[in-house]
Amino acid sequence: MELVKKLGNKLGKKGRAQITLVDVSSHHIWKPLLHELATGSLDEGVNAIDYQVHGAHNGYLFQQGALTGLNRNTQTITLAPLYNSNGATVLTELELEYDYLVLGIGAVSNDFGIDGVKQHAYSLDLTSQAMTLRERIQHQFMQHANGQRQGQMKMAIVGAGATGVEMAAEMHHMAHALKGYGYNIDEQLLQITLIEASDSVMPALPKSTLRQSVHDKLLEIGVSVRTNTIVTQVNPHSVHTKNGESIDTDLTLWAAGVKAPEVLASLGLKVNRNNQLLVADNGQSHSDARIFAFGDCAAVPQNDGSFLPPRGQTARQMALLVGDNLMALLRNPQAPLKRYVYKDLGSFVNLARFTTVGNMFSHWCGGLQVAGAPARLVYASLYRRHLLTMHGPIKGSLMLLSCGIQSWLRPQLKLW
Ligand SMILES: Cc1cc2nc3c(=O)[nH]c(=O)nc-3n(C[C@H](O)[C@H](O)[C@H](O)COP(=O)(O)OP(=O)(O)OC[C@H]3O[C@@H](n4cnc5c(N)ncnc54)[C@H](O)[C@@H]3O)c2cc1C
Repeated sequence: MELVKKLGNKLGKKGRAQITLVDVSSHHIWKPLLHELATGSLDEGVNAIDYQVHGAHNGYLFQQGALTGLNRNTQTITLAPLYNSNGATVLTELELEYDYLVLGIGAVSNDFGIDGVKQHAYSLDLTSQAMTLRERIQHQFMQHANGQRQGQMKMAIVGAGATGVEMAAEMHHMAHALKGYGYNIDEQLLQITLIEASDSVMPALPKSTLRQSVHDKLLEIGVSVRTNTIVTQVNPHSVHTKNGESIDTDLTLWAAGVKAPEVLASLGLKVNRNNQLLVADNGQSHSDARIFAFGDCAAVPQNDGSFLPPRGQTARQMALLVGDNLMALLRNPQAPLKRYVYKDLGSFVNLARFTTVGNMFSHWCGGLQVAGAPARLVYASLYRRHLLTMHGPIKGSLMLLSCGIQSWLRPQLKLW
């Protein structure tokens, strides 16, 4: 979104290039908040950005559709037909021409080929999945509140990275809020089991003290944390582990890692075993100088031979660099391109209303550890910055003010 806005305003509006954004969805919601969308803490009516309208204001065109094919000889991409919720065709297959193609189609959950994940577990890759999960969770709470489901409401969350940890805390926040709305819910109703293959929650956090404080807070909230536990099978009402254990569950969320979407491996471009497109540190694909990629779907090498981690800040920094390089190429096709060096600015994990912890400026002497209100402020400022960038300083500030007022006026949870 930041890249297309930049190109639209700098090139599209001046008639120097025609920029088209293609997305499978019609609107944008910031991905790190999908777990809040899934519980209803985030109101899509207030937070979603309509691509078509945003494009009209920012000098780019929008085409809804899923990328399914690429023809490098004719420089065209193919988009799958678009169907409505009843399965009727809205748009037939489309072809779009390009001079330069930028791929930023993100990542999807990696099921590592484990039996039953695709069939029985939910994932949080797309807004549509978050909305489906929200309905399922709300219905389960309703059934318990009305006595039509007995016992505890059991949820297994596989993967204790940002998605899994934040979702576990959000679920407890949701149960508490529903109780406040008069749902007949017992304090002990929710039984969340957070399952992690490695020896710690949030294994990507740089400091063990941070990981420990997240772990302690989760226990305090009432989450059951199972580290060093490898899931080998997911069934409709249980997950099985490598050590032969069976954990009962009514609902399973799979958040155990990501890979790039399968479609990337079918385009005839060089990819790694995670389907990520192999690109140089300037964002240019190894296979075609007219194709760029950034973010979770790109494998970008660093000086030490490692690859960039699939994270929000990496995607943003790399997208803006690709924008600079495209503008340089339009001015001069032989222009030298900027090279990207990853700077880890920090990581934050927000446990709903319970606490926020994080590490700032991680690239500098190990960084600065923050927790509680200051961490919450920095965490919230990341989304605020995103909204300001999306809408510009004046409209963005008004949007932030409006979001603040809405959060006071509207219920804490969006139920329907
Ligand atoms: C719940 C959750 C919490 C997270 N928390 C953090 C965090 O705290 N810190 C952090 O750094 N990262 C976090 N992440 C990861 C972060 O959101 C991603 O790394 C980041 O969004 C990647 O950006 P991207 O632009 O590469 O892809 P995305 O943001 O995923 O955007 C990809 C876009 O491509 C579209 N698309 C997908 N397939 C197709 C197709 N075939 N055709 C057309 N369009 C397509 C999608 O609709 C989407 O709009 C979190 C992720 C989740 C789900």
